[in-house]
Amino acid sequence: DSKRFGGKVTLVTGAAGNIGLATARRLAASGSAIALLDLAGEKLDAAVHTVAAAGVTARGYGCDVTDAANVQTIVDQVVADFGQIDFLFNNAGYQGAFAPVQDYPVEDFARVMSINVCGAFHVLRAVSRHMVARRFGRIVNTASMAGVGGPPNMAAYGASKFAIVGLTQTASKDLAPYNIRVNAISPAFMGPGFMWDRQVELQARVGSQYFSTDPKVVAEQMINSVPMRRYGDIKEIPGVVEFLLGDDSSYMTGVNLPIAGG
Ligand code: NAD
Repeated sequence: DSKRFGGKVTLVTGAAGNIGLATARRLAASGSAIALLDLAGEKLDAAVHTVAAAGVTARGYGCDVTDAANVQTIVDQVVADFGQIDFLFNNAGYQGAFAPVQDYPVEDFARVMSINVCGAFHVLRAVSRHMVARRFGRIVNTASMAGVGGPPNMAAYGASKFAIVGLTQTASKDLAPYNIRVNAISPAFMGPGFMWDRQVELQARVGSQYFSTDPKVVAEQMINSVPMRRYGDIKEIPGVVEFLLGDDSSYMTGVNLPIAGG
């Protein structure tokens, strides 16, 4: 195949979501076959359909990443179906509640950790075992700028994304001997869309000293904190992931690249 990722196989998690689907489409356009993992449902089926339209093999795998045994079974199934996994975009995630730490709901904290940290670990573990055996692999984990500076009212999400940055660093060291590179991306405010609206609404509702109680003003406050004075477009993410998966980043591992407008 003449395309740069022709003959490659990529596993994308959170593949039915905004960032996962946009990235899956981009990698498919570059010739990679795509295994799309997300919670089972119509959204996943539609995503598979969209990616297959690029003319590559695309298959959907309904899987809850919090279930380690299920993740192992699914990863084995992907390897059986495609023969290999060259690239992993480990991206499934959940934003959690918005509340100051003293009021943060205990069950939601556990849920965020279970999806964002344990889930990412389960996928990373199962896929890297396969990659170690092949002595080849490129992995990109989705962290967040919330994992670089802890934003107010997001105790669980911030902690979970700091954990992803740490997991990326350790995995990069453990896997370097096997020709496996592991990097992270950290998007900041991306919009428009559900995640943007949700965080603007919920930060306003908390009523903390950091944000107005008016969602319109919160949106301005957030954008004014960005040097480039705008939120990022989802389209500004896939190319960075492609760079980290491809050979242009051949001497990079363990880094966390901000996609944050400064
Ligand atoms: P999204 O909600 O559109 O996509 C997330 C996907 O993960 C969804 O399709 C969801 O079904 C899936 N998912 C959730 N829990 C799962 C589970 N237990 N098992 C399997 N799949 C599960 O959001 P997005 O913006 O595309 O987010 C993708 C990643 O980017 C997340 O890790 C998120 O934390 C991160 N991120 C997003 C932003 C942003 O502003 N959009 C900023 C920084 C980081």
